[in-house]
Amino acid sequence: MSLCKRRGFVYQTSEIYGGINGFWDYGPLGTLLKRNLREAWIQDVVMNPCWGKVGPDGQPVSMVMVDTRIIQHPKVWKASGHVDGFNDPMVDCRETRGRYRYDHVQVFVPASGEAGDKPVFAYVGDQPSEKAQRKKAEKLFGEVKSVMLSALPQPWDRVIAPEAEKPGTLTEPRMFNLMFDTVPGAIRDEANKAYLRPETAQGIFVQAKNVWDTNRVRVPFGIAQTGPSFRNEVTPRNFTFRSREFEQMEIEFFVVPPEHLEGEEKTTADPIAWYKFFRDWRMAWWQSIGLGSENLILREHEKDELAHYSQATSDIEYRFPFTSPGFGELEGIAYRGNFDLTQHQKHSGTKMEFRDTARGDILPNGSRRGVAYIPHVIEPSAGLDRGVLALLCEAYTKDETRASPEFMKFHPRVAPIKAAVFPLMDKDGLPEVAQKLHAELKKRFGKLGMVEFDEKQNIGKRYARMDEAGCPFCFTIDADTLKDQTVTVRDRDTGTQQRMAIDKVAGFLGEKLGE
Ligand code: ATP
Repeated sequence: MSLCKRRGFVYQTSEIYGGINGFWDYGPLGTLLKRNLREAWIQDVVMNPCWGKVGPDGQPVSMVMVDTRIIQHPKVWKASGHVDGFNDPMVDCRETRGRYRYDHVQVFVPASGEAGDKPVFAYVGDQPSEKAQRKKAEKLFGEVKSVMLSALPQPWDRVIAPEAEKPGTLTEPRMFNLMFDTVPGAIRDEANKAYLRPETAQGIFVQAKNVWDTNRVRVPFGIAQTGPSFRNEVTPRNFTFRSREFEQMEIEFFVVPPEHLEGEEKTTADPIAWYKFFRDWRMAWWQSIGLGSENLILREHEKDELAHYSQATSDIEYRFPFTSPGFGELEGIAYRGNFDLTQHQKHSGTKMEFRDTARGDILPNGSRRGVAYIPHVIEPSAGLDRGVLALLCEAYTKDETRASPEFMKFHPRVAPIKAAVFPLMDKDGLPEVAQKLHAELKKRFGKLGMVEFDEKQNIGKRYARMDEAGCPFCFTIDADTLKDQTVTVRDRDTGTQQRMAIDKVAGFLGEKLGE
């Protein structure tokens, strides 16, 4: 976190006013890192879907993109279930005013079992109070174990809340809605209440019919969208991991319902086949942009974890330093059946059916009669800011032997600064040669990220600065450059240097950046 602030990746929102809980801003480097991640997603999801792989049906994957609003008609959220159901149960502490997710609160009890009439100590995992509460509990009981708060009978008279002095200050669980509301227009009354979207997905669903009526798309195909979402998280924490404003990258991939599949399609084009295709490709995608270590896992949900409308869901999870040894969700991939479109059809009165002219009875002229159906949906839903956080955590490397004991090993594709050019000394015409190379690289690679020029300080310090920013390659112009037209290229990860012809630099960089 301190490197993030010092180097301009992430700042607290409104920091000079003391910050605002659950909101984070990006500085110059963080903004580019986030942009690069978003661009990589758009490139690989929309422009060249799934890297050009064919789907399970043997056809290229088809994808379009939309850009829908943060504020939708309030009925959208009634239909989606968010107004009534998007709740977390919370418990409050009457003494400290602390508020905790009910399903996150645990209690230290004697390892042997019952505490008798002695107090027991509540905590929320990964908060500083966990250690303090454990200490107090161990002093009282010796060996302790943790149980969920929900395992203790109410009222919780003997429970001492985190940071509280007295026992019995926790309220019973109450529902807390995560939707932010606002009032568009001049009349501020309940009837005009609207919501900030808690996910980008519903904007896709409510425009799906417009998309297929006005574009030459046919099921199976996907609609993708990126953009901000808002959730009034009760306990925003773990840096940007759980924020109140965050960006999502979501795909709704529409497939033919199983009952309309014919012959071989019943296996090759089945929704479950598509679900597995996206699950595996999304995992490979995160690995391809630098999350290749064992910190990234794919976790298939157990049957009892599934939402009532989902037949299969998996999460791509990353082991963040603050969740370790556990994992935190980066992206969820869910087979949602036709739940969302059916809900919108019911609540809006508009038919959300796709007319598929390639199916149905064969007519005398050999063509098909066509059928209409509500497509089924596979939803890969990723968090952009959580992705950025995972990239930051994975890239962060410590090496005390280097001039930059901390450095950022970003994959070149997402690195905010792609290359840097240094004149070794500020004399003898070196800056001019370096500026020329810098201008050439900036022109060619500027669309991918920054190309830096730095002529200040000694060369070791300049390398160290670039290492902290995660710049993969530095090119140095020295006296030999003037004699033999070669430069030094230094590799961030190994610190090794080699010489190459100055006119080969752009080609070398292009190859390394996967241009
Ligand atoms: P969690 O269980 O962590 O609250 P969720 O299961 O509610 O997440 P989804 O509704 O599936 O999350 O949202 C899809 C993605 O959006 C998540 O995988 C995550 O990357 C991102 N996301 C959700 N909530 C937040 C948040 N408060 N801050 C940052 N990213 C978030």
